[in-house]
Amino acid sequence: MICPAPPLCPPAAWTAWPDWDALMRLALEQAHQAAAAGEAPVGAVLLDAAGQVLGTGHNAPIATADPTAHAEILALRAAARACGNYRLPGSVLVCTLEPCVMCLGALVHARVAGVVFGALDAKAGALVSNLPGAALPFFNHRFWTLGGVLGETCGRLLSDFFRTRRLARQHQSPLANAPGMG
Ligand SMILES: [Zn+2]
Repeated sequence: MICPAPPLCPPAAWTAWPDWDALMRLALEQAHQAAAAGEAPVGAVLLDAAGQVLGTGHNAPIATADPTAHAEILALRAAARACGNYRLPGSVLVCTLEPCVMCLGALVHARVAGVVFGALDAKAGALVSNLPGAALPFFNHRFWTLGGVLGETCGRLLSDFFRTRRLARQHQSPLANAPGMG
């Protein structure tokens, strides 16, 4: 588990209560939906403090022609609409991939209490990989972070998706069928 130094770790009540693996599987279901639609397989669910699902989302920037349509944003939007409030205090986001800097901003605006993620995102992750996102001094809200929940499964889903896409593109390339190219 990747868990930055306190106070960013989940409070004791959260570490004892939830079955994070089971909740991550809900986010993974969302990620599979994204993959089935040809989108990068990232999924997210937002829970209230009692563990009830408030909203779900999966990556959909291609289908929606919307650069902000990341899984985390869509889960926040669905939850905020359901609650009739753009602030979701006490909520916890469970997502398959470490959130990017855009989603970090949205999570701060939504006042989530915590973020649980699966795989690290070495290129764009903004909680651990490239930024201590949940502890930036100029934010007026902070949340705890727990990473690495089913991290291998979440990461493999992404790497398999991109490998398959690369192979498909190579196969479609005119060079792939050109004489002398094997
Ligand atoms: Zn994002």
